[in-house]
Amino acid sequence: MIPSIGVDIGGTKVLAAVVDSTGRVLDTEATATPGTGTGPEGATAAEVEDALVDVTSRLLAVYGRCPVGVAAAGFVDRDAQRVRFAPHLPWRDEHLSKQLTTRLAGRIQGDVLVDNDATAALWAEGRFGAARGMRDAVMITLGTGIGGGLMVHGSLHRGANGMAGEFGHMQVVPDGRACQCGRRGCWEQYCSGRALARAAEEEGSDLSGPALTTAAYEGDLVATAAYEQVAYWLGVGAANLTAAFDPEIIVVGGGVSAAGELLLEPARAALADSLVGAGFRDLPQLVRAELGPLAGVVGVADLARTAGRIRRVGRWGRAPSRVVRGRARRR
Ligand SMILES: [Zn+2]
Repeated sequence: MIPSIGVDIGGTKVLAAVVDSTGRVLDTEATATPGTGTGPEGATAAEVEDALVDVTSRLLAVYGRCPVGVAAAGFVDRDAQRVRFAPHLPWRDEHLSKQLTTRLAGRIQGDVLVDNDATAALWAEGRFGAARGMRDAVMITLGTGIGGGLMVHGSLHRGANGMAGEFGHMQVVPDGRACQCGRRGCWEQYCSGRALARAAEEEGSDLSGPALTTAAYEGDLVATAAYEQVAYWLGVGAANLTAAFDPEIIVVGGGVSAAGELLLEPARAALADSLVGAGFRDLPQLVRAELGPLAGVVGVADLARTAGRIRRVGRWGRAPSRVVRGRARRR
């Protein structure tokens, strides 16, 4: 089986991975994310494209022609071709698939596939991770903000414009905290890495990231209180998503999910408290993602590998249903 390559653009590095058909990462290449050093803001579209071509080319030189997918933190159209808008990247209605396919011509199989990074992460978790065998799943990635993905009846759900799953900008507090999107009270202002750092600061701590997690696990009251705030909002948002989609499982990924049960246990309690009809239904599992920071590249590589076959039968984005259903039957 020919492997495929997945690429994503992080705050500090552009990472490409060679992935086999079982989701195993065989090799990686990385280069520094162009821009200001704190993220791709300030980089030009050409600079980001150069970085993507650079890391991908290095792997193609070793592994030969294979399918390539790019996971982008932005709105990607339904055809997996164009990035309509990316808040932290210099892409505005950018035909990224065409640009990259042209530059990598002769060295890749098919066209470069582009997908939203959280949707790609959900695909990976559904195929190889925490949501294996599940048909109705929600992905929440808690990073600086919130990314989201949705699987309905075994298929990725993209919506009319390909923009479904932008859960971070659901309004949870009318006239609440100002959001980077220009509106107020968005969920990610209360439940994200940024919200966690803010909660710690309000409690009088200057800790953030892994140091804050360690302090909370060691019983530091300030750090614990910060996590409780964010966990409460995670549970409330998860209850809203459950009311809308009734998933079997909600997978929580992204950097903040590294806190594990410190975050998930109180979030489950808030979910049960907030969900309509909670005593008369099965609650969804609320679990940590299994594939960690590589979920996006693994997922988009797998989508690129399977896209040609799925497109031919007109079911682009559909889960390889035999795999999913087969596992579901065995459960
Ligand atoms: Zn917003």
